Amino acid sequence: MSVGVEALFTAALGLKLPWVVAKVELDTDKRRIDFEVSCDAKQLPCPACGVSGQGIHDRVRRSWRHLDFFQYEAWLHAGVPRVDCSACGKTTQADVPWSRPGSGFTLLFEALALSLCQSLPVAQAAALLRVRSKRLWRRIEHYVQVARAQEEMKGVKVIGIDETSIKRGHEYVTVVHDLSAKRLLFMTAGRNHETVKAFKTDLVAHGGDPAEIAHVCMDMSAAYTKGVTEVLPQAQISFDRFHVIALANEAMDAVRRAEMLDQPRVVHAALGTERKTIRNLMWAMRQDHSGWNNKQLNTMYLLQRSTLKSARAWRLKEALRTTYTQCVSSNNEQQATAAMQSWISWARRSRLDPFKKLATTLKERLPGVVRGMLDGRSNAYVEAMNGMLQQTKTAARGFRTVKNFVAIAYLRMSKLQHLPANPLRPAIQRNQGVTRYRSGRQVPLETA
Ligand SMILES: [Zn+2]
Repeated sequence: MSVGVEALFTAALGLKLPWVVAKVELDTDKRRIDFEVSCDAKQLPCPACGVSGQGIHDRVRRSWRHLDFFQYEAWLHAGVPRVDCSACGKTTQADVPWSRPGSGFTLLFEALALSLCQSLPVAQAAALLRVRSKRLWRRIEHYVQVARAQEEMKGVKVIGIDETSIKRGHEYVTVVHDLSAKRLLFMTAGRNHETVKAFKTDLVAHGGDPAEIAHVCMDMSAAYTKGVTEVLPQAQISFDRFHVIALANEAMDAVRRAEMLDQPRVVHAALGTERKTIRNLMWAMRQDHSGWNNKQLNTMYLLQRSTLKSARAWRLKEALRTTYTQCVSSNNEQQATAAMQSWISWARRSRLDPFKKLATTLKERLPGVVRGMLDGRSNAYVEAMNGMLQQTKTAARGFRTVKNFVAIAYLRMSKLQHLPANPLRPAIQRNQGVTRYRSGRQVPLETA
């Protein structure tokens, strides 16, 4: 290494006295670059009590992984001084400015890792960085906790409460979104009314005012209704359309399954005996008609001409979807109430138990159901949020515990303001000072 390289790297690493780069070693075979960083001070302030001018007891060898230097894996090494303090009597290891105490990564390396985990599955980010996933998960948890502690939740007025399972069908978590700011506010294990209380406590801890929450969009579970009624009594509840349509789909599935079990001969007489036909039927009934393939078109044609209970169930489900579409676009409370009442009375007379039950549920909660039909602001976002939650599940694949899932969801969906910045952001604005040529004239980009 030529003279001046150490000084160059001292500056590039952002080191300040007493820390300097003492030696740089590049090993092209091993594809790594090692920086020996040293601190020659004879005296340092005590890291424990802050009294200056304390003697150095000894030095402890430590290493940190840093951002790659071109294609080379970069490492920092240093003998970190331990300070003997005459004031407090303790021997304490000095902090190094490039790393958190106890971490084997530099701060910039951790910041890059976090940025990668915001868009890549964690296992993939770990492979890219050539570290074990577990080490990234620990950082995600740490930085999310630090960032969330500083997060402001003032002025939250419209929220959505939902549940999701971290693995298909078990271990549920409750998710609370700020529907106006489109960010995840809170996530916790469980899905009972206590989770709503836990949200309120968290909201208050972050400067939010529960009394300001005017509107809650959620599913029809008794637990959340109980929680919101107790904890946010002034809030208006609206039941979101996705949950209502999902309930209609469940009712329809229940009718189809029961009919297939109880009267397979009747079903086969109407639709044909091929085993595939029955599977086609299941998917076609759930899907929008625009997604039907030829076989499904055929099966659904037969279904609609039949007198099967499944046919009635499908018509009821479709009618509910149409009711929603019409009421959302007309956005009129009276019309929506009338349309929903007419669907409810049809469902109650349908002689299909799952739909009679659904009709009762909707009737009991009609005002909230109607509000959900008119509440255009939340629906698109709830759908987008579900998509993001799915991606978050993918990001945690292989390490999907409640703790990890909560941490990665906050990292990706909370728009946290106090995370470390990505160290690979451009040094200067990309279009700054750039000129391009047009018809032979040189024009600054801004005016081009
Ligand atoms: Zn001291």
